[in-house]
Amino acid sequence: MYALVDCNNFFVSCERVFNPSLNGHPVIVLSNNDGCVIARSNEAKALGIGMAVPFFQIRQLVEKHQVVVFSTNFTLYGDMSDRVMTVLSELVPGIEVYSVDEAFLHLRGLEKLREQVENIARVVTKSTGIPVSVGVAQTKTLCKVANHFAKKYKGYEDVCIIDTEEKRIKALQQTEIGDVWGIGRRHRNMLEYHGVKTAYDFTLKSRAWIRSKMTVVGERIWRELNGQLCLEREDVDSGKKQICTSRSFGVPIVGYDRLLESIVALAALGVAKLRKQKSLAKGLYVMVQTNRFDDDMYKSSRFITLSYPTSDLAEIAGYCRKMLNQLYVNGLEYKRAGVIFQDLIKEENAVRDFFDPVDREKQSRLSDALDSIAGKYGREAVKIAIQGEGYQPNIKQTYLSKRYTTNLKEIIEIRV
Ligand SMILES: [Mg+2]
Repeated sequence: MYALVDCNNFFVSCERVFNPSLNGHPVIVLSNNDGCVIARSNEAKALGIGMAVPFFQIRQLVEKHQVVVFSTNFTLYGDMSDRVMTVLSELVPGIEVYSVDEAFLHLRGLEKLREQVENIARVVTKSTGIPVSVGVAQTKTLCKVANHFAKKYKGYEDVCIIDTEEKRIKALQQTEIGDVWGIGRRHRNMLEYHGVKTAYDFTLKSRAWIRSKMTVVGERIWRELNGQLCLEREDVDSGKKQICTSRSFGVPIVGYDRLLESIVALAALGVAKLRKQKSLAKGLYVMVQTNRFDDDMYKSSRFITLSYPTSDLAEIAGYCRKMLNQLYVNGLEYKRAGVIFQDLIKEENAVRDFFDPVDREKQSRLSDALDSIAGKYGREAVKIAIQGEGYQPNIKQTYLSKRYTTNLKEIIEIRV
């Protein structure tokens, strides 16, 4: 059996851990530049605040109901996520981290299933302060369904287990087809046109029909909903094929040096992800843009194929500089920039090239050392000089909380 553990209202819950007075109050967290709502407490949901709604549209509602607002604090959320995943990995034989606030667990046998799972939820919440919901079933797609029920209905007390044929059918009958994991809008429309309204209707279609309409991707979902295991580890955890980091700057950037700093800081974020999934990039794309609402908006990008695949920031920063030399127009106010790593390959599949001028062994030892320092003291601790202060001071974060868990100067204070 699998269990899907999902942190409830994750970003809001992270803020509440360090500010318990927020419990019971409506709280929301905003995206970069305080643009849109990306997390809501249950109280905020009850006020009718939708997901991804632009902040300016709900300002009145926020004032009227004294909703507490936070700018996104990814340093804090990332660290809390690591804590949750670490605790989980100590409790079960296998864990596959699926997103910042979700992980699939391989459970220890079937004995005392409910007890086992309730214990996991309790330990996580006790150790980290983050409340979680758990869905248990034979396949990952069914776990998603179960998790949805665990969240939606109070009676489940945050744990929903689908362990009989009867429960499986009942759950699928109450699940709209568009809510099934992996069914996008286009497929939903097509299925509804053919009379498939619920997940259960979907499972009643023949496997051949599903395959002809939705290829092997649909067939997999069909098999998973029917209780046949097929989303194996590789499928959900093979790493991404491209890594994209881009930002809008709250305050526009003027001047070559500042823009280069920001681009290299974005590249550094991408490199961290690249190294985490043990990949190297063969292609690099850099984009800059001025205000898109201006009539004479300037937008330009460059792509290069790297002679030798790499995940080394210093090397990549050099390429960023070369590309920016071609992109940069003096005197403009830059509003947005992006860095994309493409054509990723696994480190172990990299072929050593006789003509490669870089000592890759030495370079990888340096990168490993930097990673371990970053692991201990945070990504800010060591940077390459070209990065400067990076993009951070440019982002609009009016309601930012402290980095309680990663910066000693911002640690929580208690008055006794
Ligand atoms: Mg969640």
